[in-house]
Amino acid sequence: MYSWHAQDYQNLATNIKKHSFNALLVHGAANSGRAELINELIKFALCQSPQDLNACGKCSSCILWNEGNHPDITSLVADSSEERKSLQIKVEQVREIIDFASKSRHLSPRKIIHIPDAMQLNLNSANALLKILEEPVPECIFILQTNNINKLLPTIKSRCFKYQLAHPRWSEALAVVQENNLDNAEFWLRYFHGEPLFIPPFENHELVQLRTTLLKPSIDAIFALVKELDPKRVGMAQLLDFMFKWLSDLLLVKQGSAANYFAEDTEDMHKLVVKINYDKLFNLQENLVFLTLWSEHPLNHKLQFENLLFKYQQIYV
Ligand SMILES: [Zn+2]
Repeated sequence: MYSWHAQDYQNLATNIKKHSFNALLVHGAANSGRAELINELIKFALCQSPQDLNACGKCSSCILWNEGNHPDITSLVADSSEERKSLQIKVEQVREIIDFASKSRHLSPRKIIHIPDAMQLNLNSANALLKILEEPVPECIFILQTNNINKLLPTIKSRCFKYQLAHPRWSEALAVVQENNLDNAEFWLRYFHGEPLFIPPFENHELVQLRTTLLKPSIDAIFALVKELDPKRVGMAQLLDFMFKWLSDLLLVKQGSAANYFAEDTEDMHKLVVKINYDKLFNLQENLVFLTLWSEHPLNHKLQFENLLFKYQQIYV
């Protein structure tokens, strides 16, 4: 668990101890150690002889938890082997969870149902889940996590104890990134909104090639980029995210501000944005949104990426 979550841990563990809620919804800090914090909390909630607000680490519950083999906790996650636009938890899975909740505990003081990504609930599975959230089973806690609480169904939110995690300070986050001797540490940290536990999506030379191509989108440069950065290898979602951020910076520069993610390119962007056609740029953004929804789907991403880059070239008229 990271130092900036110490207070969050105290707050949440105290509330678990006091039985303040049957369902907890934790949001924020997706790449800032949320998973580590939740793991600590679950271990504490399951522990048979907690020491104040910490798990003992020695009881059978703690041992089973460390082995990843605890019978009083289950996770509700979408089946990632399915080909769909987005990963979704199914109603049948929620029924299995309700069954799990109704059975008696094995060894821990409470049972836990963990939903690491509540955004995977669709309308049907969320409605199925509501029933059990409305009539909670004693000694059974739901722990839900989400990156974007605004996109969750209000009915789910209203039945949960909502908790927003602290964000690390810039200096704390940078220290974590620098420990890993990462090149362009400050650039990537800005790119990932100050949340330090990211994996850089591109190698150094790839980052340079992406930036230079977007600064000078010639036909040759576009073909060379698509050849070098095959979306199948680097991930379409990563390329789309890069382009989103680049376009949002172009708009900032066009409005007279400094670029946010690509601060070093602000000056070069100034020269570029003189020729920008807004309609074409917004149209390109819509294309990006559409493709993001399908980024896990096996389309011909190489062709899609190439098309996007040619459309990008066309926004300068
Ligand atoms: Zn223990």
